[in-house]
Amino acid sequence: MSERRFNQPLGGNEMPRFGGPATFMRLPTAEPSADLDAAFIGVPFDIGTSNRPGARLAPRQMRDESRMLRPFNVSTGADPFNSIQVADIGDVPINTFNLQDSIRIIEAFYDKVLEHNIAPLTLGGDHTIALPILRALKKKHGPVGLIHVDAHADINDHMFGEKIAHGTPFRRAVEEGLLDCDRVVQIGLRGTGYSIDEYDWSRDQGFRVVTAEECWHKSLEPLMAEVREKVGGGPVHISFDIDGLDPAYAPGTGTAEVGGLTTPQALEIIRGCRGLDIVGGDLVEVSPPYDNSGNTALLGANLLYEMLCVLPGVNYQG
Ligand code: MN
Ligand code: MN
Repeated sequence: MSERRFNQPLGGNEMPRFGGPATFMRLPTAEPSADLDAAFIGVPFDIGTSNRPGARLAPRQMRDESRMLRPFNVSTGADPFNSIQVADIGDVPINTFNLQDSIRIIEAFYDKVLEHNIAPLTLGGDHTIALPILRALKKKHGPVGLIHVDAHADINDHMFGEKIAHGTPFRRAVEEGLLDCDRVVQIGLRGTGYSIDEYDWSRDQGFRVVTAEECWHKSLEPLMAEVREKVGGGPVHISFDIDGLDPAYAPGTGTAEVGGLTTPQALEIIRGCRGLDIVGGDLVEVSPPYDNSGNTALLGANLLYEMLCVLPGVNYQG
């Protein structure tokens, strides 16, 4: 067997970090093919959002901020780029004038990606895009487990009468049988709502609901041991809404809620997914127009890198 050569991010000593290709981590671009194990995909979609817009600009902004990322994860020992083949396969060509058509286009794009056994790591986009991604994952893997980080449960029956919007994807996913409901965890939920039973529908489906208050002032490592117990035993998708974090850390988002998770807790959540059968991940709801410092996009890029590091097949050193 000839030794496999893996794509490497363009290093900071080969080209200044403010130069070079504007791909995720300055990786090579590629077409979906069986040669790839994982791929970064942009979905420049925000026509499902209910408040401040702008997430359509996030794939580009997260790619730009990802230029600071170096290949080796010194904190965890993960060595993704000497373990698996990764590329940036570009953006899904959505129809920004038509939500329903865009959902169809996204699902078809992910069908093609999954046909080649590529683990998709998605740069959103608003949270609506989780629905077509989960539809494609179901066809490939059957109903998946889900680790959903968010200030919001996103289980509305409708928004303004519309069944598909950024506040409804997980209600639709349950109705369509896309989730293995006993292997679903929602972390970071909080804020004002319409009634005391805001999260009861989630619990009635078998989801584990972890409110932000349950996370305050502590490490989430013990929680993640419980989460691995709950969601293990099958394929798992990570759906990470950046508004799960406190606006102090992630102000650049459309529907901010105070009292959220910290950046170290976000890292603990994703690093705590190591050992699970992670089949995909998305990072959604970054809105560059509200991200004056670029820190929200930088955080999003880092969390996507951490998702890469916990994919099956990634080797760890030390
Ligand atoms: Mn959400
Ligand atoms: Mn949210």
